[in-house]
Amino acid sequence: MSLIEVSNVSLTYHSLKAETKAIENLNFSIKEGEFISIIGPSGCGKSTLLNIISGLLKPSKGEILYNDNTVKNRLDKMGYMFQKDYLFEWLSVRSNVLLGLRIKKIDTKDNISSADNLLKNYQLDRFVNHKPTELSGGMRQRVALIRTLALNPEVLLLDEPFSALDYQTRLKVCDDVKGIIKKEGKTAIMVTHDLGEAIATSDRIIVLTKRPATLKLDVKIEFMNKDATPFQRRKEPEFNEYFNLLWKELDELNE
Ligand code: ADP
Ligand code: MG
Repeated sequence: MSLIEVSNVSLTYHSLKAETKAIENLNFSIKEGEFISIIGPSGCGKSTLLNIISGLLKPSKGEILYNDNTVKNRLDKMGYMFQKDYLFEWLSVRSNVLLGLRIKKIDTKDNISSADNLLKNYQLDRFVNHKPTELSGGMRQRVALIRTLALNPEVLLLDEPFSALDYQTRLKVCDDVKGIIKKEGKTAIMVTHDLGEAIATSDRIIVLTKRPATLKLDVKIEFMNKDATPFQRRKEPEFNEYFNLLWKELDELNE
């Protein structure tokens, strides 16, 4: 059974001057625990799609079915992670991580202790009293992820989460983030324009066309070595096969 069903979704932005058709009749579904990447040309409507899936934006047509519509407010089930980490520089790592719980007034003993456990399990316990400026870019992204996980979301929406990092850090943080998401058993939807990153992390890749975004391809990604980390996947033979296949498809979109 699918957790999220994108059903006949279209979205047009209206402004005084213009109408921008961003998404046209999209259909696909996402299973619980799946890690999906969405790729497509810049400006095609990827972030728009994430906002529709989260419930922040209402589609002009169609709907998102979450758990067969048994959930009233699915925004509560979603956690976002962006390219920028949006950490507050004047707060300690721990305060940043606990902030969401405090704002939502769910900073119960249990929730605080789970957040502290996340910090500990993912090697940040030595840095809880540090300020974000004292951390590397990669570590900051790990803190941002843990801040999101502290709210115990069912689904993580990642919008180009590694784009601001240099290449080497990116490979490392990608391994970290994927490892954490897998261990915590979360469903994840990641927007990226990096094909290699999509293949290295995902169970499935959805390729969108130029704006307005329609579905170009929906590819299942399978590696013989099921437990390979993203970094290890890059060295497996399947990596190049998928890369060549998808590169061709993306290339056609840019013609
Ligand atoms: P992507 O994330 O794939 O780069 P976006 O989803 O951000 O693309 O945007 C898709 C299209 O919709 C772009 O042409 C963008 O300019 C337009 N767009 C995005 N947000 C708005 C908005 N709030 N109002 C009007 N147009 C928008
Ligand atoms: Mg975007």
